[in-house]
Amino acid sequence: MFENTSPNIHDFATTTNFYNLTYSEVTAYLLQNGHSKFVTTQLFNWIYKKNERNHTLWSNISKNLKSQLTNHFSFAIPEIITTQISKDGTVKFLFKMCDQEVVEGVLIKFPDRLTLCVSTQVGCAMGCNFCYTGTQGFKRNLSTAEIVGQYLSADLWLKNFNQNNQNNQNNQSNLEKITNVVYMGQGEPLNNFLNVKKATLNLMEPEGLAIGQRKITLSTSGMVPQIMKLDEFPSINIAISLHSARNSVRDVLMPINKIYDLERLFEAIKTIPLKAHRRITYEYLLIDGLNNTLLDIEALCKLIPRETSKINIIPFNEYPNSKFKCPSESNIRWFSDELGKRNFTSTIRLSKGADILAACGQLRSQMQSGTSD
Ligand code: SAH
Ligand code: SF4
Repeated sequence: MFENTSPNIHDFATTTNFYNLTYSEVTAYLLQNGHSKFVTTQLFNWIYKKNERNHTLWSNISKNLKSQLTNHFSFAIPEIITTQISKDGTVKFLFKMCDQEVVEGVLIKFPDRLTLCVSTQVGCAMGCNFCYTGTQGFKRNLSTAEIVGQYLSADLWLKNFNQNNQNNQNNQSNLEKITNVVYMGQGEPLNNFLNVKKATLNLMEPEGLAIGQRKITLSTSGMVPQIMKLDEFPSINIAISLHSARNSVRDVLMPINKIYDLERLFEAIKTIPLKAHRRITYEYLLIDGLNNTLLDIEALCKLIPRETSKINIIPFNEYPNSKFKCPSESNIRWFSDELGKRNFTSTIRLSKGADILAACGQLRSQMQSGTSD
């Protein structure tokens, strides 16, 4: 039901965009074409570390290789077509792909980090009924280049923004470099396993962006077969969109629960290789009158292993015509306190970028209804 059996309609870009290749694939290409394997490091330095696509500036790369590369590969990255900056510094991007499809990304500023939330698919097949993206259906997977390219585009935007702000002495809102990446934009990342895996390898590559494994988080709605293959994935943080510890409630929220119910999901979670002191994050969307009672807390306590888990409470982000409501602030606080009393580690996700509708799927919805600037 949820598998994407349709061919990736972006095959052209998949085979020819240089950012689709991992470090070892670039090395293999270079060796096959008579170049030294050490050039991979130099190339990754230019195109990732320096984020420089202008090959005339690649001073240590031979003319011959440069013309070979530019003849064979595209170095295109997604184009930012809309940017909205919230009062709290959250930036929402609309990225346009080569085939004109658009996805969103959000840059969120915390005191200690700057996190980019990227999309992994155009639309999503999972149909969660609280999620705007879920109501829009699935279009296609994003390629590795389109996923890692969202980082590169946002990084260029940020450099430009910082430069302009340096000239403006009065502006205090300077943002630093992007330090963290979360796969929490549009799409179910585990339904695009290989491309997301390769994008993760490219984000982590020490000779390139060198983002640490603890600074990348993959969020999944609970794709059991792929969760059981996570030992093939780089060891990044895993977040499970749980939203209820009761099958009867989760069935209503997420159609996937009718295929992989909580029992099967937790059997699969047990197979995730966890390094020492690492935990699985459980995202818990708090919805008024649906999953915010004592019964829900008791079910959570029975289901989740305390020592290896943390719970991230996400107050439901309302959007135009959404079916659900966000609980009151006192209910949210109460829910978190009750979990604390039962020795659970929980945090409440602060609503960032509320004035620019920075929740899942909302920028695209605005654009489609013609209200975007
Ligand atoms: N498909 C993946 C990752 C993208 S969604 C997943 O579902 O985990 C990222 C997070 O945004 C999920 O936890 C999802 O439940 C949450 N989300 C979706 N719609 C939301 C809304 N209206 N308000 C708050 N969070 C929402
Ligand atoms: Fe897809 Fe995640 Fe939205 Fe569910 S919450 S529809 S899995 S993007």
